[in-house]
Amino acid sequence: LVTGAARGIGRAIALSLAKEGYNVAVLYLGSEEAAEQTCDEIRQLGRQALCIRCDVACGESCRQAVAQVIEEFGSIDVLVNNAGIVRDSLVLSMKEEDFEQVVQTNLNGAFYMIKHTCRQFIKNRRGRIINISSVTGVMGNVGQANYASAKAGLIGLTKSVARELAGRNITCNAVAPGFVATDMTAAMPQKILESAVAQVPLGRMGTAEEIAQTVAFLCSDAAGYITGQVLCVDGGLSM
Ligand code: NAP
Repeated sequence: LVTGAARGIGRAIALSLAKEGYNVAVLYLGSEEAAEQTCDEIRQLGRQALCIRCDVACGESCRQAVAQVIEEFGSIDVLVNNAGIVRDSLVLSMKEEDFEQVVQTNLNGAFYMIKHTCRQFIKNRRGRIINISSVTGVMGNVGQANYASAKAGLIGLTKSVARELAGRNITCNAVAPGFVATDMTAAMPQKILESAVAQVPLGRMGTAEEIAQTVAFLCSDAAGYITGQVLCVDGGLSM
């Protein structure tokens, strides 16, 4: 189950997991057509795909989506909390609703999904949870107090859930991407983006596929002894 899987990093994760042999539930909010396209590509890889509209900012919507996936697929093995938004501005001028919306979607959304999925994981005595955080949650960033708070909160959520569920053979990790070429970064002013990329030791933006391959690794048997970690995939930005 991948949230925000119609486009960007979520889409790359959905396809990468399909290549690893998973059937994938593609959750989307507004991008229905793109979600259908992701599902078609998953089916072309020989896997089953489910296209489900889910607003992660709403607990009841998350509950219903998880129930539908369990009904159609029989079970869930992997949860990837990828859905996210930005509403950037300096703290001085940040609207309260922009702070709240960003936390509601990026952090509360992941909590709702974990809450409704973990019963199935506990029953199965196995499961993988991957939360897509950000280097902003590790380092902070000018103009992103809301986003940094949510993404740092995701790291606390990751470690707490990892501790709570480790005894049931369930791992929970966070992936913290740096600057990745998607619609989210395309919306940044060009000058700010250029100066941000200039800070990256590897000297370039990351690709959605590079984040997706890290997620696929964390879902693999090879990563069975990794839990409660934050894997920064950022070209060295946060070191
Ligand atoms: P993106 O291209 O803007 O895509 C955002 C995704 O989130 C879309 O699939 C969107 O779904 C979904 N979404 C937004 N609000 C939602 C809601 N309330 N309920 C359900 N889905 C919702 O972003 P991206 O760059 O791929 O980012 C994916 C994740 O990586 C985010 O968590 C982001 O914070 C994180 N990240 C990105 C970067 C980067 O440089 N791009 C860096 C660090 C971390 P619809 O289109 O269907 O509405």
